[in-house]
Amino acid sequence: MPPSDVADAGGGAGPDSSGLDGAGRFARDWAAAAARLGYLRPSVAETTDVLYRHTQRLAAAVRAPSFSDQIGRDVGRGLVEGHLTDPAVLDWSVRALSERFLPLVLPDLVDSPSARERISHLQGALAEGFSRALRHRTFDQQSSIRRAAWTARDAAEQALRDSEARFRAVFTGAALGIGIADLDGRMIEVNQAFADLLGYSVDELRDVDVGALFHPDDASGTRQLYSELIKGKHDSVRMENRYFRRDGSSVWTDLAVSLIRHDDGRPRFTVAMVEDITDRYEMQERLRFQAEHDPLTGLPNRTLFFDRLSRALAAPDEPDRRIGLCFLDLDGFKSINDGLGHDVGDQLLTVVARRLADCVAGPGHLVARMGGDEFVILVDRCAGTPQVTAVAQTALTAVGAPIHIGDHQLTVSASVGVVMSPAAGNTPTEVMKAADTTLYWAKAEGRGRWALFDPVRAAHHVTRSALAAALPAALDRGEFVVEYQPITRLPDGTITAVEALVRWQHPELGRLGPDRFIGLAEETGLIVRLGRWVLERSCRQANDWRVNFPRQPIAVSVNLSARQVSDPQIVGTVAGVLTRTGLPADLLQLELTESALMAPGGEPLRALRRLAGLGVRLAIDDFGTGYSNLAYLRRLPIHVLKLAGPFVEGMRAAGPDGDRDERIVDALVRLAHALDLTVTAEAVETRQQATRLVALGCDQAQGRYFGGPVPPAEITALLAAGPVVPDGSAGPDGPAAGAR
Ligand code: C2E
Ligand code: CA
Ligand code: CA
Repeated sequence: MPPSDVADAGGGAGPDSSGLDGAGRFARDWAAAAARLGYLRPSVAETTDVLYRHTQRLAAAVRAPSFSDQIGRDVGRGLVEGHLTDPAVLDWSVRALSERFLPLVLPDLVDSPSARERISHLQGALAEGFSRALRHRTFDQQSSIRRAAWTARDAAEQALRDSEARFRAVFTGAALGIGIADLDGRMIEVNQAFADLLGYSVDELRDVDVGALFHPDDASGTRQLYSELIKGKHDSVRMENRYFRRDGSSVWTDLAVSLIRHDDGRPRFTVAMVEDITDRYEMQERLRFQAEHDPLTGLPNRTLFFDRLSRALAAPDEPDRRIGLCFLDLDGFKSINDGLGHDVGDQLLTVVARRLADCVAGPGHLVARMGGDEFVILVDRCAGTPQVTAVAQTALTAVGAPIHIGDHQLTVSASVGVVMSPAAGNTPTEVMKAADTTLYWAKAEGRGRWALFDPVRAAHHVTRSALAAALPAALDRGEFVVEYQPITRLPDGTITAVEALVRWQHPELGRLGPDRFIGLAEETGLIVRLGRWVLERSCRQANDWRVNFPRQPIAVSVNLSARQVSDPQIVGTVAGVLTRTGLPADLLQLELTESALMAPGGEPLRALRRLAGLGVRLAIDDFGTGYSNLAYLRRLPIHVLKLAGPFVEGMRAAGPDGDRDERIVDALVRLAHALDLTVTAEAVETRQQATRLVALGCDQAQGRYFGGPVPPAEITALLAAGPVVPDGSAGPDGPAAGAR
């Protein structure tokens, strides 16, 4: 125990030059050592304050009447709590206690043995307090780290449990099929939706090989993607493919497969999400079918046809590939449609479509409806011209068989343009243009037949549209001329009139007959201007003849198309022409076809009455080719009936056909006469026909037998030669044989 002789030892070292007492100086040195030897968390000043207090407490302990080393332990602990935990600090502190404490802080006790003894006790206690505090502190720190670690682990586990629960909820409850498979393609787990989609139970699918479910049509592609995924080439793949259901039906799916990897990146398993898109897929298919097929006939439409044609033509890997094409158009379909109604027309098209599809259903053959009454047959990888012309002939035969629709038995024919073309270097547009041109040839050659494309001929062929486009300028440039064909009185053969017939003197194509351009002019509306020009030109001509040959007045007969008759200005036009040319109205005859007279709306009838009111004569042209409604004709202000060529032509034939046509002409002449109409026979080509017409009481005749259409100068020459002497019959040479 420390001796008590130091107990009341007072005083101490007085303040030095720095103003510090001994304890202050000891504390200052202590703090400086601490700063030097270890890291000082608080500032040096704060540490000095703390150490000063420790110094005073140690001093108090040395002087205390009864000694306790507890102060030493407290100071040791205090050092640790003041973060002076470095062992070097402890070392310094213990040594400083024995070497400097008494001289500096308690100089009066330097020689006191009991003070020295107390100091050594305090040294041990300080070391012990320090060590114990340090141990506690380390333990505390470790346990708080451990605690923190435990807390963290709990949180992580909870999060995992949460996400697991969420995954479960999604997995089991999802409407989307979810399946997890290992890298060998074995199903590890599937959810209910996945099993439902394929028609199995969840258990049945466990361990099943994924590949076994693939639809064979998609299997190779699907397997390929799957294996790339498993090798880690992709992190996910997405595809639309089919699977077999348990009942053998197939299901269309939208499939997304993701690869799940180990922490180190190695592929671990795959997760597939599958949606049943069968309904959507079928809807898409239906829409696609509708977009590519004609609703009336169910045939592929032009979109699909052009698609196939383009693909067939763009086949660079098959240099020898050839395609054949038949472009088919029904003959006279418009008149069936107009005459019997669109219902019948539609049914007719449906029958034709079915027959075509049935008769040319070879591999690589596509039958499509281009629109209206146009069909097309594509013969891909065509073996040669004989193959495609055979297809055309088969199609013509199929279409030509009688068709029964309701009470109607119809016989239709078709025309076909046939093209054989190498696939390489041809565009769909070129091929179709060739087919169109060839179809036109087939029509021009008499319909009901096929024509084969010929590039040399095509080079000279001018399309209808090109002609139509050139018409207006041709009229302005004066490329049209009028020829005149005599109309003679029977039986004496006197020329009583001429029919004006227009021709186009085309600068490149030569002389074109009206059949090449009147239809076009009607379609484009130019006929109104062209017709007005013909009318004026022929009235002027007729008036010249009247003035120059006053003893042989001849009328001029001018054709009016339906479009002109329904032109609101027609009456004014005719009246104006008569006034300008000086031709008396009774020397003008206008020829109208039955269809022009039948035009709806009653307007033509009003116009006809007013034209008749001018004193102009009206003739019905081509009588017998249209409706031939005589009862209706009675109501019209008509003067002349022109019997159509085919009747007169028929009279030429010997036997029953000729007899029948003759009886028809006989009846028509009688009927016409009963209605006070003059009858003119057209297209009289032989003496025999002329003789019979005389016998039947026909009034007038026109045709090559009496003279074809000629330039006006030839008519002038005829008139100048004087009237033909009537001999009471049509002579063997023909009354106007010299006209041609
Ligand atoms: P269309 O009015 O029936 O004219 C008679 C046609 O028969 C003319 O044909 C004439 O050349 C032809 N022909 C003359 N003699 C005979 C014969 O003995 N046998 C045969 N088979 N035919 C004969 P073209 O000149 O080719 O005229 C054809 C059609 O063009 C005309 O038929 C007429 O409908 C129309 N057309 C001609 N010129 C005009 C016109 O100025 N205006 C209008 N709107 N149509 C015209
Ligand atoms: Ca005519
Ligand atoms: Ca005619």
